[in-house]
Order: sequence, then C-alpha cells, then structure tokens
Amino acid sequence: MDHHRLYLQGDDATPERLREILAREGFRVLDAQEAAPANARIMVELDASTPREAARRIEELERTALELRNLDVAKSQFLTNVSHELRTPLTAIVTYGEILRDGLLGEITERQGEAIESMIGSCRQLLGMIEEILTYARTNAPAIDIRPAEFPLEEVVESVRDMNASLLERKGLRFATELGEDAVHVWADRDKVAHVLGNLIGNAIKFTPEGGWVRVMGSAAAGQPGWVQVQVEDSGIGIDREHHELIFREFAQVDASRSRVHHGTGLGLSIARRFVELHGGRIWVESDLGKGSRFSFTLPCTQPADEDADEPASGGASGA
Ligand code: ADP
Repeated sequence: MDHHRLYLQGDDATPERLREILAREGFRVLDAQEAAPANARIMVELDASTPREAARRIEELERTALELRNLDVAKSQFLTNVSHELRTPLTAIVTYGEILRDGLLGEITERQGEAIESMIGSCRQLLGMIEEILTYARTNAPAIDIRPAEFPLEEVVESVRDMNASLLERKGLRFATELGEDAVHVWADRDKVAHVLGNLIGNAIKFTPEGGWVRVMGSAAAGQPGWVQVQVEDSGIGIDREHHELIFREFAQVDASRSRVHHGTGLGLSIARRFVELHGGRIWVESDLGKGSRFSFTLPCTQPADEDADEPASGGASGA
C-alpha cells in the first residue's frame, strides 16, 4: 500500500482527522497545493464543502482503504501459497535431474546428459522466479524491518559478480567495479543490499547484448553527508523515458508481450525500491532507448545518531 498516493483538496476543518485515518492505512497524503507526483496511483479529490459531506467522504475513504488493504493482503497470501506449492515439486525435479545427470541410476549418453542439464537449468530459472515472488510477498508485510550494520560494499558487489560469472563469460561482457575511497563501507542491511545489487546487476547483464559492459560505481552522495550513491551502469538496450517510472511498479515490464525475449517476474525493481526506501534512500534510473542504462541508489554510510542506543553488540546483519 505504500506506493499509493492520495491527493486531497477541500475543507480546512477535515484534513487532520483524515490525515490520521489515511496515515494509519499506509497512505501518503499530499497537500492541496502540492502537485501530484507522476507515479500517483490513486487520486482522490476531496471536495467536501459541509461537515456532513466531509464525514461521509471520510467514511467512504476509510472503507475503500480497508478494502484495498484486504485485497493487498489476499494477493500476498495467494502469491505465497502458490509459490510454496510450486517450489516443492520443482525442487524434486532438480534433485532427480541431478541424480540422473550424475549417473547414479545408470550410465547416460553425452546427449542425454546435455538434455538433463538444460532441464535442470530451466527448473533453476523457475525456482529463482518463485523465490522473487516469495520475497515480494514478504516485502509487502507491514512488519518488515531492516537490520543495519557496517560492511564493505565491495564484498557484496564481488559476491554478486561471482554468482553471475558464468553468464558474464557466456555473453562476453566486461565487468568493472569502481568504488571510491568515500564509498568503501555502508551502514545498511547487508542481505537487502545484496538483493538490490543482485537485481540491478542481473538486469544489466540480462539486458545487455553480447560484447557489452556492466560497471558498478560508488561514491559519496553529492550534497548528502553520511550517504553514498551506488550506480549500476550498462551498455545495453536502454529504456525509453516514458517507462522510467513504470518499471519500478510491481509486475511491470517494458516488453510484456508473450513473445518477449527476456524472462522475469517484473518484481525485481519494485522490491529493490522498497528495500532502498526502508533505508531512507532513493533509487532512480537514467536511460534512453538503445543507449544503455544507469540505475542509481543511495544508502547511509554511517550509523544514524539515534540508533546508537539500541544497536545490538554483535551488529544486526547476517552474511550475504
Ligand atoms: P524483470 O527483470 O523480472 O522483468 P524488474 O522489475 O527487475 O523485472 O525490471 C522491470 C523491467 O525494467 C524489465 O522487464 C525491463 O523491461 C526493464 N529493465 C530493468 N533493468 C533494465 C536494464 N538494465 N536495461 C534495460 N531494461 C531494463
């Protein structure tokens, strides 16, 4: 629900009560003079000239908000259930495929081995997508939080690069990392940063044709002391400006046709945005069709002063 925006316009006497209800429901309320952002999803104009009318509108909005929240919960629950149900048989297929491939049930020919290998590869791809759906469903839980600690950014970039090593090699892509002195460490939830970088680097590789390059850069965020800016750049197919906002929405893909070449759930960037925003940072893209893409996000690199008191001695993060 956090991506919904409500635009209010109306009686001066009502906004406080309304704000209270809407904030409770997870909406962000804009002032009447404020321009609605381009990514506004739900726009409600409150034109309540009398207190009675205002009360009716508040009730209506309360009901709508509750319905939306229930639908959101039902959607997440459905996705969780379906993903779990799919994961179990798929894992069994991979396991039996590996048993066959390794010749544990008898000799197999080279061609049979290749067929089994590609079957295992496809199942792993499906499992990856199912994991992404599960992460998305969990990400939508109201209680999601972050466990920040200090860690070296480079370690996470390297582990994501290692995970993609065979794909990088197969596509003949050059991979470079340029982390400045001022972006060595970040103060963040390591698993979530690994997820964000995994998605951005994975996309950069996926959407860059053979022979291209992918580059990860980090430096102090301009005009934001205590923050770093990380960029994942590629020389790939690029994204038309009109789609820059759309791609951060759940299930959104630029090419949603059945014949599309690139596979995916369309959830990666919406999860990445959620994770970055949980840290108080922001994420955006600069790109043009055919001219590559540059995704940037900001992260804190120092512990906020008010976290000193309740920071556990062991640090909060687990390994990537
Ligand atoms: P998925 O990759 O699973 O489709 P994402 O949310 O990660 O979902 O990305 C959404 C869409 O944004 C992609 O389907 C693609 O159209 C576009 N996109 C993301 N990253 C890039 C990139 N580096 N280059 C070109 N297009 C991209």
